[in-house]
Amino acid sequence: MASMVIKINKSTLSLIEGDITKQDTDAIVNAANKTLRGGGGVDGAIHRAGGPKILEECIKIGRCETGGAVITSGGNLKAKFVVHTVGPVYRDGLHRDPELLSNAYANCLKLASSKGIKSIAFPSISTGAYGYPVEDAAEIALKTVIDYLKEHSDIELVRFVLFGQKALEVYERVLKRLI
Ligand code: ADP
Repeated sequence: MASMVIKINKSTLSLIEGDITKQDTDAIVNAANKTLRGGGGVDGAIHRAGGPKILEECIKIGRCETGGAVITSGGNLKAKFVVHTVGPVYRDGLHRDPELLSNAYANCLKLASSKGIKSIAFPSISTGAYGYPVEDAAEIALKTVIDYLKEHSDIELVRFVLFGQKALEVYERVLKRLI
């Protein structure tokens, strides 16, 4: 399957394979680090595609704690906003790893709602350099988003943009199990 789309109340939840920097949603989410100074992976790709304005705004904001979220403009991106969040560095899946990953998604959605954002695209937070196993991260990510959309109807579209067919397949499998 190339993608998956479901309805949660009035909102749409979709999974696609692709590049988050190319998305035309109102906002895209960056899996940033606490310093907000850019980095590798999706963070580097967003700053490269979006240009220097995003980094300038990040420097003004200063910092973001793990599980938190901050917002900047989208610079040269199609998306008007970038919501920067910091996922946990995976330790063992115990302690606060799941809670912090869930907070990252929930705080992005809350911040997006407060800015009137109607559509938002997420990457798979923490599953690259931060080492979170994709299957476990997918379950937390999808549960958190589904719970949010059940309670709030202002965000019309949440799109997960997975990097590579393998990640998409994992997210699809987990979503089918959850619904
Ligand atoms: P983290 O530090 O939170 O683990 P990474 O950027 O290292 O963040 O990885 C997070 C996920 O983003 C990984 O699954 C990686 O494959 C994916 N990724 C990297 N570049 C892109 C991109 N351009 N679009 C969407 N996802 C991407």
